[in-house]
Amino acid sequence: MRTQVCIIGGGPSGLLLSQLLHRSGIDTVVLEQRSRDYVLSRIRAGVLEWGTVETLRAAGVGARMDAEGLPHDGTYLSARNRGFRIDYFAQTGKRVMVYGQTEVTADLYAARDAMGGVIIDEAQGVTLHDVETGAPYVTYHKDGTEHRIDCDFIAGCDGFHGVSRPTIPDTIRRDFERVYPFGWLGILSETAPASHELIYANHERGFALCSMRNPELSRYYIQVPLDHTTDQWSDAAFWDELRRRIPEDTAETLEMGPSVEKSIAPLRSFVSEPMRWGHLFLVGDAAHIVPPTGAKGLNLAASDVHYLHEALTQHYAGDAGAINLYSDRALARVWSAMRFSWWFTTVMHRFPDQSEYDQRMQESELQYLETSQAAQASLAEQYVGLPF
Ligand SMILES: Cc1cc2nc3c(=O)[nH]c(=O)nc-3n(C[C@H](O)[C@H](O)[C@H](O)COP(=O)(O)OP(=O)(O)OC[C@H]3O[C@@H](n4cnc5c(N)ncnc54)[C@H](O)[C@@H]3O)c2cc1C
Repeated sequence: MRTQVCIIGGGPSGLLLSQLLHRSGIDTVVLEQRSRDYVLSRIRAGVLEWGTVETLRAAGVGARMDAEGLPHDGTYLSARNRGFRIDYFAQTGKRVMVYGQTEVTADLYAARDAMGGVIIDEAQGVTLHDVETGAPYVTYHKDGTEHRIDCDFIAGCDGFHGVSRPTIPDTIRRDFERVYPFGWLGILSETAPASHELIYANHERGFALCSMRNPELSRYYIQVPLDHTTDQWSDAAFWDELRRRIPEDTAETLEMGPSVEKSIAPLRSFVSEPMRWGHLFLVGDAAHIVPPTGAKGLNLAASDVHYLHEALTQHYAGDAGAINLYSDRALARVWSAMRFSWWFTTVMHRFPDQSEYDQRMQESELQYLETSQAAQASLAEQYVGLPF
């Protein structure tokens, strides 16, 4: 088989890139190692920056998001069980959209199918070859047969554990990492959200977040030690702990119910540079991971896709230098989001070695956010997403 761009990974990055390139007349094949059902059932991100909303619309997959997504003008922050609001729209003229990653992925699969896009799922043993040359190719196994795809470029959209990033030699690649000493225990429950907007809570017992997917489906998180497992946390224990950490008035009216999903995610910051080697481009989680506090992971994947789509479109239109800019443009935005996610994580979480002084510093930072227009504008500008 031959294609112009072979895309490894059928998550949001791979599907969105395939969709945008197809609409620009560039041929792609997507190779996904899992089944479609598996990819569609992964519960992950839920908050879209406005730039991501506009990118999805430009890709022709905005209709259901616009009909069913929940635009949010602001958010609540809380400290010591007392909350205050930051109005993103008043500060920046922009909103965010609450629309689950599972829905984004479902819309992208539907659009790819409608356009006859080639997505090969359950592709095993995906291997990249001759990436540094002008004639790269990819091999994989499916149903006991080995296949080969020749291409002009390979887009590594295969997430943090994928095969694309390790293809770049250690002598070229530089990794930057911070692992946080805690994780997020998250549950999904078929109950009305605690509030019409998200609540990010700093508490001396640990961080908590009240989020949602739609008016009947809520997503809640609490910070837990890294060695905790979901078996240790009954639903009742989860609700008790959540209610201790959030604003008192919200805790009193919180609607509780059985969890329909429960998982623990460790928190990590990671960047791999460069995001291009020869004819391979890294996109999304394949190149970087942010802690979920700033809701940036999926949004960074979308901005990478935007830059790569633009570079490849210009390349095929005859601008030979366009692809040289991809890595630097993407990384500049990645590091900004990395900084915001690190800052927000540091302000909101309880660290194992945190002193009373450190706790007061966090509470003082939150008080500054509550009382300063400049501080609110800075948070709002970054939360709704820096331009791309
Ligand atoms: C538990 C959890 C919660 C999260 N919550 C948030 C949030 O609230 N807000 C936010 O913005 N972000 C969140 N994120 C991050 C967000 O989900 C990711 O940034 C986003 O999924 C990145 O998309 P991607 O397509 O780059 O990578 P992925 O979604 O990881 O997709 C990569 C795809 O590549 C496939 N693949 C991997 N290896 C191979 C291979 N060898 N061959 C072929 N295919 C392969 C995988 O099966 C997968 O389908 C969360 C992530 C996790 C894990």
